[in-house]
Amino acid sequence: MAEAPVEPGLAPLLAAACRAHGAAFGGAAVVLAAWAPGRVNLIGEHTDYNGGFVLPMALQLGTVLVGSPTQDGTISILTTSAEADEPHRVQFPAPRQGSPLSPGQPRWANYIKGVIQHYRGGPVPGFNAVIASDIPLGGGLSSSAALEVATYTFLQQLCPDDGDLVAKALACQKAEHTFASMPCGIMDQFISVMGKEGHALLIDCRSLDTVLVPLTDASLAVLITNSNVRHTLTGSEYPTRRRQCEEAAATLGKGSLRDATMAELEVARSRLGEEVYRRARHVVGEIARTAQAAKALQDRDYRTFGRLMVESHNSLSSACRGVLRKASQASVPGGAGMRQPITDDYEVSCPELDELVAAALEVNGVYGSRMTGGGFGGCTVTLLEAGAAERAQHYIQEKYSGTATFYLTKPASGAKVLPL
Ligand code: ADP
Ligand code: MG
Repeated sequence: MAEAPVEPGLAPLLAAACRAHGAAFGGAAVVLAAWAPGRVNLIGEHTDYNGGFVLPMALQLGTVLVGSPTQDGTISILTTSAEADEPHRVQFPAPRQGSPLSPGQPRWANYIKGVIQHYRGGPVPGFNAVIASDIPLGGGLSSSAALEVATYTFLQQLCPDDGDLVAKALACQKAEHTFASMPCGIMDQFISVMGKEGHALLIDCRSLDTVLVPLTDASLAVLITNSNVRHTLTGSEYPTRRRQCEEAAATLGKGSLRDATMAELEVARSRLGEEVYRRARHVVGEIARTAQAAKALQDRDYRTFGRLMVESHNSLSSACRGVLRKASQASVPGGAGMRQPITDDYEVSCPELDELVAAALEVNGVYGSRMTGGGFGGCTVTLLEAGAAERAQHYIQEKYSGTATFYLTKPASGAKVLPL
């Protein structure tokens, strides 16, 4: 059954999408609407594709897809996002037996085509649709998974599938692999489908078991800071890291790095080679940190959680040690633990993210801060006392060499059908 929307930005987003639908499709009425959230990962970075743990929460920011069925077997889609590559409107025939969809231009439409192609309740008939989103595109808050999951949720109303949620997330992941050429893990699609209001979600990416972790303490806030930079390395480095992890697991004779221990890594160090060893050391350490962090959050031990966030950042960090060294020497009232050794094992951060983390850790009331998402730009996530949130935003902006955008968000629900 449809739920009432509670996310503050959702009603205006839905209204804008409905208006655009009327204008684009000759006044046709919207009869179907779906929404899916973006996400922020609190800890557990680059662990999902290694069968490890992740601890994301769904955002109040999300993507709406509204539409109406057509009788002529064509699919027409318009995005209202100015950041999407041109053209913003596409039309193609609904897939039929023997003539499947394939990826092409514009790139943004590939996420939708992929979901249509891998939809489990098909064949998908013709429809018109408009997409509107308040997630920054390419900002590390998973606008791509939100688009896929919103599309899937829309299709579930157009031609229902069996309603299996895990299969839904997996189909959306497959769409991103095959139509957007991004070999992503399962985290983004999973949390966009399964998120629960007031909770982070510990996901075991090997078994796909989940544990809801309450995050409703009114004295606590989660601050997302967008660096507003994205280095072009993202596209090439992600598959490289993935390959290095697979190589490490194979050398150790394991199915994935989830099954490896630090002791085994040490023994195999020379066989792995130094770079692959360091990549694997990040993954094995991060999987352990994420399990500990979920426990700390459950126990409301925010200092421990914050310390683990900083360890995570250091392990993911770029070679920009200068900024972090400076922060490590500053007094950190939140006890954020910058005195940890800096390991730089995974090298997926960038100077901008390191700057934002270092600035956040200088603010009184901050428990911890780290880069979040794949890296090379995008966002940081900071856990802090709610009373420090405003001060932190001013301080971080003042210290940051670029222009930051801030989001203070509560854990939201996963994808849903919207009442019209
Ligand atoms: P992230 O998922 O972190 O936002 P990605 O690079 O994985 O970054 O996905 C961003 C891409 O997803 C965009 O460049 C665009 O192609 C597509 N996309 C996401 N949301 C929308 C939208 N509302 N309209 C059009 N394209 C979108
Ligand atoms: Mg993405």
